[in-house]
Amino acid sequence: MEAFRYMNGKLRCENADIGKAAAAVGTPFYIYSRRAFADNFRRLDKALAGSRHIICYACKANSNLSVFRLFARLGAGADIVSGGELYKALKAGVDPGKIVFAGVGKTEDEIRFALSSRILMFNVESVPELNLINDIAGKMRRKAAVAVRVNFGFDPHTHGYINTSRGSKFGIDMSMARGVFAYAKVLRNIDIAGLHSHIGSQITQTGPFVRNLRMALSLAESLKELGIHLRFINLGGGLGIAYREKESPVSVSSVGNIFRKLLKNSRRYTLILEPGRFLSANAGALVTKVLYAKESFGKKFVIVDAGMTDLIRPSLYGAYHRILPLTTVRSPLATVVSVVGPVCETGDFFALDRKMPVPGQGDLLAVMDAGAYGFEMSSNYNSRPRPAQVLVSGSRFSVIRKRETRADLVRGE
Ligand SMILES: *Cc1c(COP(=O)(O)O)cnc(C)c1O
Repeated sequence: MEAFRYMNGKLRCENADIGKAAAAVGTPFYIYSRRAFADNFRRLDKALAGSRHIICYACKANSNLSVFRLFARLGAGADIVSGGELYKALKAGVDPGKIVFAGVGKTEDEIRFALSSRILMFNVESVPELNLINDIAGKMRRKAAVAVRVNFGFDPHTHGYINTSRGSKFGIDMSMARGVFAYAKVLRNIDIAGLHSHIGSQITQTGPFVRNLRMALSLAESLKELGIHLRFINLGGGLGIAYREKESPVSVSSVGNIFRKLLKNSRRYTLILEPGRFLSANAGALVTKVLYAKESFGKKFVIVDAGMTDLIRPSLYGAYHRILPLTTVRSPLATVVSVVGPVCETGDFFALDRKMPVPGQGDLLAVMDAGAYGFEMSSNYNSRPRPAQVLVSGSRFSVIRKRETRADLVRGE
Protein backbone atom coordinates (compact mmCIF):
# COMPACT_ATOMS: atom_id res chain seq x y z
CA MET A 1 0.00 0.00 0.00
CA GLU A 2 1.16 3.54 -0.74
CA ALA A 3 2.64 5.22 2.32
CA PHE A 4 1.14 8.56 1.29
CA ARG A 5 -2.52 8.69 0.34
CA TYR A 6 -5.66 10.73 0.81
CA MET A 7 -8.32 9.80 3.30
CA ASN A 8 -11.39 11.99 3.53
CA GLY A 9 -9.62 14.65 1.50
CA LYS A 10 -6.55 14.79 3.76
CA LEU A 11 -3.11 13.55 2.83
CA ARG A 12 -1.85 10.97 5.26
CA CYS A 13 1.50 9.38 5.86
CA GLU A 14 0.52 5.85 6.88
CA ASN A 15 -2.33 6.63 9.27
CA ALA A 16 -0.99 9.95 10.48
CA ASP A 17 -2.65 13.19 9.42
CA ILE A 18 0.24 15.22 8.02
CA GLY A 19 -1.57 18.47 8.82
CA LYS A 20 -1.53 17.54 12.51
CA ALA A 21 2.21 16.89 12.37
CA ALA A 22 2.62 20.30 10.72
CA ALA A 23 0.66 21.95 13.52
CA ALA A 24 2.92 20.25 16.06
CA VAL A 25 6.35 20.83 14.52
CA GLY A 26 5.84 23.84 12.24
CA THR A 27 6.92 24.08 8.61
CA PRO A 28 8.95 23.23 6.64
CA PHE A 29 9.72 19.68 7.72
CA TYR A 30 10.43 16.26 6.28
CA ILE A 31 8.04 13.42 7.04
CA TYR A 32 8.93 9.76 6.49
CA SER A 33 7.03 6.49 6.63
CA ARG A 34 8.74 3.76 8.60
CA ARG A 35 6.72 1.13 6.75
CA ALA A 36 7.71 2.44 3.32
CA PHE A 37 11.43 2.21 4.16
CA ALA A 38 10.94 -1.35 5.40
CA ASP A 39 8.74 -2.38 2.45
CA ASN A 40 11.31 -1.11 -0.03
CA PHE A 41 14.09 -3.04 1.70
CA ARG A 42 12.06 -6.26 1.90
CA ARG A 43 10.94 -6.01 -1.73
CA LEU A 44 14.54 -5.78 -2.91
CA ASP A 45 15.78 -8.43 -0.51
CA LYS A 46 13.07 -10.79 -1.74
CA ALA A 47 13.87 -10.05 -5.39
CA LEU A 48 17.48 -11.06 -4.76
CA ALA A 49 16.60 -14.21 -2.82
CA GLY A 50 18.36 -17.15 -4.42
CA SER A 51 21.53 -15.16 -5.09
CA ARG A 52 23.87 -14.80 -2.12
CA HIS A 53 23.78 -11.07 -1.50
CA ILE A 54 24.31 -8.14 0.83
CA ILE A 55 22.28 -4.95 0.52
CA CYS A 56 24.54 -2.10 1.56
CA TYR A 57 22.33 0.94 2.06
CA ALA A 58 23.91 3.99 0.39
CA CYS A 59 23.41 6.19 3.39
CA LYS A 60 24.29 9.37 1.51
CA ALA A 61 20.63 9.26 0.44
CA ASN A 62 19.39 9.71 4.01
CA SER A 63 21.67 9.13 6.96
CA ASN A 64 19.40 10.23 9.77
CA LEU A 65 20.27 7.87 12.62
CA SER A 66 16.71 6.66 13.08
CA VAL A 67 16.41 5.83 9.38
CA PHE A 68 19.85 4.26 9.31
CA ARG A 69 19.07 2.18 12.42
CA LEU A 70 15.85 0.98 10.84
CA PHE A 71 17.74 -0.41 7.83
CA ALA A 72 20.46 -1.87 10.05
CA ARG A 73 17.83 -3.77 12.02
CA LEU A 74 16.40 -5.17 8.80
CA GLY A 75 19.84 -6.58 8.04
CA ALA A 76 21.22 -3.94 5.72
CA GLY A 77 24.90 -3.11 5.56
CA ALA A 78 26.08 0.31 4.47
CA ASP A 79 27.78 1.94 1.53
CA ILE A 80 29.72 4.87 2.95
CA VAL A 81 31.73 7.63 1.32
CA SER A 82 33.33 9.39 4.29
CA GLY A 83 34.56 9.00 7.84
CA GLY A 84 31.46 10.88 8.95
CA GLU A 85 29.24 8.28 7.35
CA LEU A 86 31.28 5.50 8.96
CA TYR A 87 30.80 7.19 12.33
CA LYS A 88 27.04 7.36 11.77
CA ALA A 89 26.87 3.78 10.46
CA LEU A 90 28.56 2.47 13.61
CA LYS A 91 26.31 4.62 15.80
CA ALA A 92 23.28 3.26 13.98
CA GLY A 93 24.39 -0.28 14.75
CA VAL A 94 25.34 -1.36 11.24
CA ASP A 95 27.49 -4.52 11.27
CA PRO A 96 30.99 -3.32 10.26
CA GLY A 97 31.36 -6.62 8.40
CA LYS A 98 28.74 -5.29 5.98
CA ILE A 99 30.21 -1.83 5.39
CA VAL A 100 31.82 -0.93 2.07
CA PHE A 101 33.72 2.33 1.64
CA ALA A 102 33.68 4.12 -1.74
CA GLY A 103 34.80 7.56 -2.89
CA VAL A 104 37.69 8.94 -4.94
CA GLY A 105 39.18 11.01 -2.10
CA LYS A 106 39.59 8.89 1.01
CA THR A 107 42.01 10.51 3.47
CA GLU A 108 44.64 8.78 5.60
CA ASP A 109 42.58 9.43 8.67
CA GLU A 110 39.48 7.90 7.08
CA ILE A 111 41.38 4.82 5.91
CA ARG A 112 42.79 4.27 9.40
CA PHE A 113 39.35 4.71 10.97
CA ALA A 114 37.85 2.19 8.51
CA LEU A 115 40.60 -0.37 9.06
CA SER A 116 40.35 -0.14 12.82
CA SER A 117 36.55 -0.49 12.56
CA ARG A 118 37.08 -3.71 10.54
CA ILE A 119 34.79 -2.79 7.67
CA LEU A 120 34.09 -5.37 4.95
CA MET A 121 36.13 -3.63 2.23
CA PHE A 122 37.25 -0.49 0.46
CA ASN A 123 36.03 0.21 -3.04
CA VAL A 124 39.29 1.50 -4.43
CA GLU A 125 39.16 4.19 -7.10
CA SER A 126 42.82 4.77 -8.02
CA VAL A 127 46.32 3.29 -7.80
CA PRO A 128 47.68 5.93 -5.39
CA GLU A 129 44.73 5.18 -3.10
CA LEU A 130 45.54 1.48 -3.30
CA ASN A 131 49.15 2.22 -2.36
CA LEU A 132 48.10 4.34 0.60
CA ILE A 133 45.69 1.69 1.88
CA ASN A 134 48.48 -0.91 1.54
CA ASP A 135 50.92 1.29 3.51
CA ILE A 136 48.48 2.11 6.29
CA ALA A 137 47.33 -1.51 6.57
CA GLY A 138 51.00 -2.55 6.84
CA LYS A 139 51.64 -0.13 9.67
CA MET A 140 48.51 -1.38 11.43
CA ARG A 141 49.50 -5.01 10.79
CA ARG A 142 46.24 -5.61 9.00
CA LYS A 143 45.26 -6.94 5.65
CA ALA A 144 42.91 -4.56 3.87
CA ALA A 145 40.16 -6.14 1.81
CA VAL A 146 39.46 -4.17 -1.35
CA ALA A 147 37.29 -4.21 -4.43
CA VAL A 148 38.66 -2.43 -7.46
CA ARG A 149 36.05 0.01 -8.71
CA VAL A 150 35.94 -0.43 -12.46
CA ASN A 151 34.41 2.07 -14.84
CA PHE A 152 33.07 0.06 -17.80
CA GLY A 153 32.30 3.30 -19.55
CA PHE A 154 28.87 2.53 -20.92
CA ASP A 155 26.03 4.99 -20.87
CA PRO A 156 23.33 4.12 -18.32
CA HIS A 157 20.97 6.73 -19.86
CA THR A 158 20.48 9.01 -16.91
CA HIS A 159 21.11 12.66 -15.99
CA GLY A 160 24.67 13.91 -16.65
CA TYR A 161 25.31 14.89 -13.03
CA ILE A 162 24.38 11.43 -11.76
CA ASN A 163 25.98 9.50 -14.61
CA THR A 164 29.17 8.02 -13.21
CA SER A 165 30.43 6.34 -16.37
CA ARG A 166 32.85 7.42 -19.12
CA GLY A 167 34.40 10.80 -18.54
CA SER A 168 33.48 10.99 -14.85
CA LYS A 169 36.04 10.97 -12.03
CA PHE A 170 34.85 7.61 -10.71
CA GLY A 171 36.52 4.24 -10.80
CA ILE A 172 39.30 2.83 -12.90
CA ASP A 173 39.06 2.91 -16.67
CA MET A 174 38.18 -0.56 -17.93
CA SER A 175 41.25 -0.68 -20.18
CA MET A 176 43.47 -0.39 -17.08
CA ALA A 177 41.45 -2.57 -14.73
CA ARG A 178 43.29 -5.85 -15.33
CA GLY A 179 46.61 -4.13 -14.79
CA VAL A 180 45.42 -2.66 -11.51
CA PHE A 181 44.17 -6.02 -10.29
CA ALA A 182 47.53 -7.57 -11.20
CA TYR A 183 49.32 -4.76 -9.37
CA ALA A 184 47.08 -5.15 -6.30
CA LYS A 185 47.98 -8.82 -6.19
CA VAL A 186 51.62 -8.07 -5.41
CA LEU A 187 50.81 -5.63 -2.59
CA ARG A 188 51.45 -7.49 0.65
CA ASN A 189 48.74 -5.96 2.78
CA ILE A 190 45.95 -6.04 0.23
CA ASP A 191 43.34 -8.77 -0.04
CA ILE A 192 41.60 -8.51 -3.41
CA ALA A 193 38.06 -9.32 -2.37
CA GLY A 194 36.02 -8.14 -5.29
CA LEU A 195 35.14 -5.88 -8.10
CA HIS A 196 32.87 -2.89 -7.92
CA SER A 197 30.98 -1.11 -10.67
CA HIS A 198 28.36 1.54 -9.96
CA ILE A 199 27.02 2.92 -13.22
CA GLY A 200 24.87 5.85 -12.19
CA SER A 201 21.70 6.79 -10.40
CA GLN A 202 17.95 6.82 -11.08
CA ILE A 203 18.11 4.08 -13.74
CA THR A 204 14.64 2.72 -14.44
CA GLN A 205 15.48 0.16 -17.16
CA THR A 206 16.74 -3.33 -16.36
CA GLY A 207 19.14 -3.34 -19.32
CA PRO A 208 22.01 -1.32 -17.80
CA PHE A 209 22.02 -3.45 -14.63
CA VAL A 210 22.15 -6.67 -16.64
CA ARG A 211 24.90 -5.30 -18.85
CA ASN A 212 26.84 -4.25 -15.76
CA LEU A 213 26.65 -7.74 -14.25
CA ARG A 214 27.62 -9.39 -17.54
CA MET A 215 30.69 -7.19 -17.86
CA ALA A 216 31.61 -7.67 -14.21
CA LEU A 217 31.31 -11.44 -14.52
CA SER A 218 33.38 -11.56 -17.66
CA LEU A 219 36.13 -9.49 -16.07
CA ALA A 220 35.99 -11.55 -12.86
CA GLU A 221 36.33 -14.78 -14.87
CA SER A 222 39.24 -13.41 -16.89
CA LEU A 223 41.07 -12.50 -13.68
CA LYS A 224 41.39 -16.18 -12.86
CA GLU A 225 44.19 -16.36 -15.44
CA LEU A 226 46.08 -14.02 -13.16
CA GLY A 227 45.39 -16.22 -10.18
CA ILE A 228 42.85 -13.75 -8.81
CA HIS A 229 39.68 -15.32 -7.48
CA LEU A 230 37.13 -12.73 -6.47
CA ARG A 231 34.56 -13.36 -3.76
CA PHE A 232 32.35 -10.30 -4.21
CA ILE A 233 30.74 -8.61 -7.17
CA ASN A 234 29.42 -5.20 -6.20
CA LEU A 235 27.10 -3.62 -8.76
CA GLY A 236 26.60 -0.37 -6.87
CA GLY A 237 23.26 1.39 -6.61
CA GLY A 238 21.18 3.31 -9.10
CA LEU A 239 17.84 1.50 -8.90
CA GLY A 240 15.39 4.14 -10.08
CA ILE A 241 11.99 5.17 -8.76
CA ALA A 242 8.94 6.84 -10.33
CA TYR A 243 9.07 10.58 -9.68
CA ARG A 244 6.40 11.42 -12.25
CA GLU A 245 2.81 10.31 -12.27
CA LYS A 246 3.25 8.19 -15.40
CA GLU A 247 6.71 6.78 -14.76
CA SER A 248 7.45 3.28 -13.52
CA PRO A 249 10.16 2.36 -11.08
CA VAL A 250 12.79 -0.19 -12.08
CA SER A 251 11.39 -3.70 -11.80
CA VAL A 252 13.54 -5.22 -9.08
CA SER A 253 11.88 -8.59 -9.56
CA SER A 254 13.04 -8.68 -13.20
CA VAL A 255 16.50 -7.51 -12.22
CA GLY A 256 16.60 -10.17 -9.49
CA ASN A 257 15.47 -12.93 -11.86
CA ILE A 258 18.05 -12.08 -14.49
CA PHE A 259 20.80 -11.79 -11.89
CA ARG A 260 19.89 -15.21 -10.54
CA LYS A 261 20.19 -16.74 -14.02
CA LEU A 262 23.48 -15.03 -14.76
CA LEU A 263 24.95 -16.09 -11.44
CA LYS A 264 23.71 -19.67 -11.63
CA ASN A 265 27.08 -21.02 -12.68
CA SER A 266 29.12 -18.65 -10.53
CA ARG A 267 27.94 -19.48 -7.06
CA ARG A 268 31.16 -18.46 -5.39
CA TYR A 269 30.32 -14.78 -5.81
CA THR A 270 28.44 -12.82 -3.22
CA LEU A 271 26.51 -10.04 -4.87
CA ILE A 272 26.53 -6.62 -3.27
CA LEU A 273 24.09 -3.86 -4.15
CA GLU A 274 24.26 -0.31 -2.84
CA PRO A 275 20.79 1.17 -3.23
CA GLY A 276 20.11 4.59 -1.76
CA ARG A 277 17.24 6.23 -3.59
CA PHE A 278 15.30 3.00 -4.12
CA LEU A 279 15.14 2.35 -0.37
CA SER A 280 14.35 5.83 0.82
CA ALA A 281 13.04 8.27 -1.81
CA ASN A 282 9.34 7.41 -1.87
CA ALA A 283 9.25 7.05 1.92
CA GLY A 284 9.52 10.79 2.47
CA ALA A 285 7.98 14.14 1.63
CA LEU A 286 8.90 17.73 2.36
CA VAL A 287 5.99 19.64 3.85
CA THR A 288 5.88 23.36 3.23
CA LYS A 289 3.46 26.24 3.69
CA VAL A 290 2.35 28.71 1.05
CA LEU A 291 3.45 32.19 2.12
CA TYR A 292 2.33 34.33 -0.80
CA ALA A 293 1.09 34.24 -4.36
CA LYS A 294 2.12 36.84 -6.92
CA GLU A 295 2.15 37.53 -10.61
CA SER A 296 4.99 39.09 -12.59
CA PHE A 297 5.27 39.62 -16.35
CA GLY A 298 2.23 37.41 -16.70
CA LYS A 299 3.78 34.55 -14.74
CA LYS A 300 2.17 33.19 -11.59
CA PHE A 301 4.35 32.38 -8.62
CA VAL A 302 3.48 30.52 -5.46
CA ILE A 303 6.04 31.29 -2.77
CA VAL A 304 6.49 28.65 -0.10
CA ASP A 305 8.49 28.57 3.13
CA ALA A 306 10.83 25.77 2.02
CA GLY A 307 13.55 26.37 -0.51
CA MET A 308 16.54 24.95 -2.31
CA THR A 309 18.35 24.95 1.05
CA ASP A 310 15.91 22.25 2.18
CA LEU A 311 15.56 20.29 -1.08
CA ILE A 312 18.02 21.14 -3.81
CA ARG A 313 17.24 18.44 -6.38
CA PRO A 314 15.02 20.62 -8.62
CA SER A 315 17.64 23.39 -8.64
CA LEU A 316 20.62 21.06 -9.05
CA TYR A 317 19.32 18.56 -11.58
CA GLY A 318 16.07 20.09 -12.80
CA ALA A 319 14.54 17.13 -10.97
CA TYR A 320 10.78 16.66 -11.01
CA HIS A 321 8.91 16.17 -7.74
CA ARG A 322 5.15 15.80 -7.54
CA ILE A 323 3.58 18.51 -5.38
CA LEU A 324 0.38 17.60 -3.57
CA PRO A 325 -1.94 19.69 -1.41
CA LEU A 326 -2.41 18.35 2.12
CA THR A 327 -6.10 19.05 1.77
CA THR A 328 -7.84 18.41 -1.53
CA VAL A 329 -10.06 21.12 -2.92
CA ARG A 330 -13.49 20.29 -4.25
CA SER A 331 -13.22 21.67 -7.76
CA PRO A 332 -9.58 22.40 -8.40
CA LEU A 333 -8.88 25.02 -11.06
CA ALA A 334 -5.61 24.02 -12.65
CA THR A 335 -3.40 26.91 -13.69
CA VAL A 336 0.20 27.18 -14.80
CA VAL A 337 2.26 28.27 -11.80
CA SER A 338 5.82 28.14 -10.55
CA VAL A 339 6.36 27.01 -6.98
CA VAL A 340 9.39 28.83 -5.61
CA GLY A 341 11.20 29.23 -2.31
CA PRO A 342 12.35 32.25 -0.31
CA VAL A 343 16.07 31.88 -1.10
CA CYS A 344 17.74 34.71 -3.00
CA GLU A 345 18.50 32.67 -6.11
CA THR A 346 16.53 32.44 -9.34
CA GLY A 347 17.28 28.72 -9.29
CA ASP A 348 15.33 28.34 -6.05
CA PHE A 349 12.23 26.46 -7.20
CA PHE A 350 10.31 23.22 -6.73
CA ALA A 351 8.27 23.43 -9.95
CA LEU A 352 8.49 25.68 -12.99
CA ASP A 353 5.42 26.49 -15.08
CA ARG A 354 3.52 23.48 -13.84
CA LYS A 355 -0.18 23.04 -14.40
CA MET A 356 -1.67 22.42 -10.99
CA PRO A 357 -4.50 23.56 -8.72
CA VAL A 358 -3.42 26.92 -7.34
CA PRO A 359 -2.96 26.72 -3.58
CA GLY A 360 -4.04 29.61 -1.40
CA GLN A 361 -2.07 31.56 1.17
CA GLY A 362 -1.47 29.42 4.28
CA ASP A 363 -2.16 26.13 2.47
CA LEU A 364 0.20 23.24 3.08
CA LEU A 365 1.87 21.34 0.25
CA ALA A 366 3.83 18.09 0.19
CA VAL A 367 6.78 17.83 -2.16
CA MET A 368 6.80 14.10 -2.77
CA ASP A 369 9.52 11.46 -3.07
CA ALA A 370 11.91 13.56 -1.03
CA GLY A 371 13.14 10.80 1.28
CA ALA A 372 16.44 10.47 -0.62
CA TYR A 373 18.90 13.28 -1.30
CA GLY A 374 16.50 15.67 0.40
CA PHE A 375 17.48 16.61 3.94
CA GLU A 376 20.86 15.06 3.30
CA MET A 377 21.76 17.75 0.76
CA SER A 378 20.31 20.61 2.80
CA SER A 379 22.36 23.66 3.69
CA ASN A 380 22.30 26.79 5.80
CA TYR A 381 22.59 29.14 2.83
CA ASN A 382 20.86 32.47 3.48
CA SER A 383 21.28 31.60 7.18
CA ARG A 384 18.28 29.33 7.08
CA PRO A 385 18.06 26.74 9.86
CA ARG A 386 17.67 23.20 8.53
CA PRO A 387 14.15 21.76 8.79
CA ALA A 388 12.91 19.15 11.26
CA GLN A 389 12.60 15.47 10.34
CA VAL A 390 9.63 13.40 11.48
CA LEU A 391 9.15 9.63 11.33
CA VAL A 392 5.69 8.12 11.18
CA SER A 393 4.81 4.67 12.39
CA GLY A 394 1.13 3.83 12.03
CA SER A 395 -0.78 6.82 13.35
CA ARG A 396 2.06 8.06 15.58
CA PHE A 397 4.84 10.38 14.59
CA SER A 398 8.05 11.35 16.32
CA VAL A 399 10.64 14.03 15.67
CA ILE A 400 13.85 12.25 14.64
CA ARG A 401 15.76 15.48 14.14
CA LYS A 402 14.91 18.79 15.71
CA ARG A 403 14.57 21.86 13.59
CA GLU A 404 17.77 23.86 13.80
CA THR A 405 17.63 27.06 15.77
CA ARG A 406 19.15 30.46 15.04
CA ALA A 407 21.73 29.68 17.73
CA ASP A 408 22.77 26.61 15.70
CA LEU A 409 23.58 28.98 12.85
CA VAL A 410 26.43 30.63 14.76
CA ARG A 411 27.74 27.57 16.59
CA GLY A 412 31.49 27.41 16.12
CA GLU A 413 31.84 30.92 14.68
C1 LIG B 1 25.40 7.37 -4.94
C2 LIG B 1 25.93 6.01 -4.95
C3 LIG B 1 25.08 4.93 -4.67
C4 LIG B 1 23.61 5.09 -4.44
O1 LIG B 1 22.96 5.53 -5.57
P1 LIG B 1 21.36 5.45 -5.66
O2 LIG B 1 21.07 5.93 -7.01
O3 LIG B 1 20.82 6.32 -4.61
O4 LIG B 1 20.99 4.03 -5.46
C5 LIG B 1 25.65 3.67 -4.59
N1 LIG B 1 26.96 3.48 -4.81
C6 LIG B 1 27.80 4.50 -5.10
C7 LIG B 1 29.23 4.20 -5.31
C8 LIG B 1 27.30 5.78 -5.19
O5 LIG B 1 28.13 6.78 -5.51
